[in-house]
Amino acid sequence: MDVAGQFAELYGYEPDGVWSAPGRVNLIGEYTDFNEGFVMPLALPHTAVAAVARRTDGVLRLHSADIDAPVAELRVDELTPLSKYGQGGWAAYPAGVLWALRDAGHEVSGGADIHLASTVPTGAGLSSSAALEVVTALSLNDLYELGLDAPRLAVIAQRAENAFVGVPCGVMDQMASACATEGHALHLDCRDLTTRQVPFDLAAQGLRLLVVDTRVKHELGDGAYAERRAGCEEGARVLGVSHLRDVLYAELPAALAKLTDEKIRRYVRHIVSDDHRVEQVIGLLDAGDVRAIGPVLTEGHASLRDDLRISCEELDLVVASANAAGALGARMTGGGFGGSAIVLVEEVDAEPVTKSILEAFTAAGHTAPRVFPAVPSAGARRLA
Ligand code: ADP
Ligand code: MG
Repeated sequence: MDVAGQFAELYGYEPDGVWSAPGRVNLIGEYTDFNEGFVMPLALPHTAVAAVARRTDGVLRLHSADIDAPVAELRVDELTPLSKYGQGGWAAYPAGVLWALRDAGHEVSGGADIHLASTVPTGAGLSSSAALEVVTALSLNDLYELGLDAPRLAVIAQRAENAFVGVPCGVMDQMASACATEGHALHLDCRDLTTRQVPFDLAAQGLRLLVVDTRVKHELGDGAYAERRAGCEEGARVLGVSHLRDVLYAELPAALAKLTDEKIRRYVRHIVSDDHRVEQVIGLLDAGDVRAIGPVLTEGHASLRDDLRISCEELDLVVASANAAGALGARMTGGGFGGSAIVLVEEVDAEPVTKSILEAFTAAGHTAPRVFPAVPSAGARRLA
């Protein structure tokens, strides 16, 4: 049964509409978003789909087909950040969006009934959480006729995750889910949220981008994000810039010479060089030389592994085994310490490279990863 049918069965009446928002993978530019730098995500064909109806009585009802939990029933005027729905409960994501909209002065106080189902793998670094937030934001925007554009909805969604759920994340995931278009990667300037759709037609080039979900999540990740963030801020302070985005690549050696702390120096080198790699990738894609981005991806992985130090054994194994088997390039993607990697391959090599990765995981005694193609897909939209 489709999501609208499930809504009708659950709530006993028809929804006002159906919306979808995708998960994403980031092609290049990691941890650069909170440094006001550049990122380049693309939307996955995997989406969160929500059937939604507007209410008038200030009640918010939430249900997910993917979670074994009854309908959560909340009062709009009682939503508080980091309350019981802000401590790990899935309902905090959509509830947080409604809270963030109200907090920004938008009229959504009538509430809503929401039922959703998602094909975005959760906790795999593919932003199932952003998909949930963005699909909620877009549906409420339409039903309440708020007139917010996609970037503004993304910022609302990010605020929900930061302030209501309590997860410190940059704005990339929500921007990707809200603004991506089919057949493109999204070049995003995280300083002013300007975007450019960069053609990324893999099939026409006989190429494939594989996502390899390692299905591991190492505990280390939680504190490490905040620590890297603080380190980057410290680097910017020492260098006398507001954000590391302001350090030009050509000035990197001079900047590094000014940093006495070895760790801060590594963090700065990663951020400034990854911003540069985003520009390199754009130049290559604009020139139609998609194959040539492979080595840039692999260099990006080395930087995340050796300078930012957010990789792990499993992610390193994906990259090493894929490249040894003839991939054009590979890197971890997302927050690190587990989650997913991406691998660029010739279409004809997709199968043997996948096989090599799986064999390497078996030989190392790791759980078999999940491998699927990342087809650059559409951003959030109304389906019905
Ligand atoms: P990621 O965004 O990388 O997938 P997160 O930890 O940020 O991982 O978000 C995962 C959380 O989002 C889940 O633990 C759950 O609370 C919520 N979530 C994601 N998809 C769904 C879904 N289909 N139904 C209910 N909750 C979901
Ligand atoms: Mg997330």
